[in-house]
Amino acid sequence: MAVYHDAKCKLCRREGTRLYLKGERCYTEKCAIETRAYPPGEHGQDRRRRGTQYGTQLREKQKARRLYGILERQFRNYFKSAARRQGVTGEILLQMLEMRLDNTIYRLGLAASRAAARQLVRHRHFMVNRRVVDIPAYSLDPGDVIEVRPASKKIAAIRETFENRRRTEDQPWLEIDEKEMRGKVLQLPARDQIPVPIQEQLIVELYSK
Ligand code: SF4
Repeated sequence: MAVYHDAKCKLCRREGTRLYLKGERCYTEKCAIETRAYPPGEHGQDRRRRGTQYGTQLREKQKARRLYGILERQFRNYFKSAARRQGVTGEILLQMLEMRLDNTIYRLGLAASRAAARQLVRHRHFMVNRRVVDIPAYSLDPGDVIEVRPASKKIAAIRETFENRRRTEDQPWLEIDEKEMRGKVLQLPARDQIPVPIQEQLIVELYSK
């Protein structure tokens, strides 16, 4: 499986916003968005550069891809699938991304980042509806129950991340059982329940050209 190898903080600096790719560090003053708030590269601090409409749309798509950790082809497939459904395409696209297993584990506070969630899923530490699932892109439905495998509950990294999670970031569309380290998808998240700095309409415009 292909993965990003570029330095994570560079991706945030390129997009000009926190993408929360490094777990706890992203909430500290060490975050590169705080210390170097300009794009990486030789011309990163050149403020004379002006963007085109296409460039703005492209950046928005890249931001979404990088935030959720998805490669181009897979992202485009999500868009095609969203466009075929009834409703607002941009909102459906974000809902599909939020309902990925790796994202939901991150939202439940069982992993420090989406990348960490992906690795834990691949290492078979999670179950969905009591069956082990090792596919990070697995698409959840309302009613699905996500939990840590009994043998994996002892793993300090998972337990400590969950216990120390920011409870203020618990999502209203997810029910959390703290004692059992378990979460349930209550419903599809509405757009205002998806806390991502993305203007999805720009992505729709880009792919609709
Ligand atoms: Fe780096 Fe996280 Fe800050 Fe992004 S949000 S720049 S990954 S520390």
